[in-house]
Amino acid sequence: MKRIAIFPGSFDPFTVGHANILERALPLFDQIVVGVGINENKKAFYPTEQRLQAIRTLYKGEPRIRVESYDDLTIDFARRVGARFILRGLRSVHDFEYERDVANMNKRLANIDTLIMFTEPHLTSVSSSVVRELITFGKDVSAFLPHAPEPAPRSEAPRSQDE
Ligand code: ADP
Repeated sequence: MKRIAIFPGSFDPFTVGHANILERALPLFDQIVVGVGINENKKAFYPTEQRLQAIRTLYKGEPRIRVESYDDLTIDFARRVGARFILRGLRSVHDFEYERDVANMNKRLANIDTLIMFTEPHLTSVSSSVVRELITFGKDVSAFLPHAPEPAPRSEAPRSQDE
């Protein structure tokens, strides 16, 4: 049986903090489906399609990562894609109680386990909301957004032995 997890969130936008959690969890699963949640009651900064495309472009070379949107319950999205695990990141104690309550409820309602990963210390203060605010005021946010790896050069000259 394939080990599939979903990584749900708003990803508005997807930051280096999100990328760090996703990439560190990848060795644990056969597939991780990033779930871009659509919340009709919350006005998004970036349209759903743009959020999806940004993450898809980033991971287009990684077949174990898929990116989908969903507008229903996270447990129903998990069931649809055959996931038995939910991946979440934890930055601080402020996140803790909320994440624990949602995880307990998802376990009870759908027998889905949540895997929480601690963020790395240098990323604890990175959040989509801070990035949005900086963008609104015209600041450079490139340090907080992941960049797609440079494509490999088409034909590399063979390296000499003593290089
Ligand atoms: P949500 O609105 O569901 O919290 P987010 O897009 O804000 O969606 O976050 C998705 C997941 O990524 C959550 O588990 C959140 O705690 C985690 N996350 C956000 N920023 C960071 C970060 N800097 N380091 C680690 N995890 C993060």
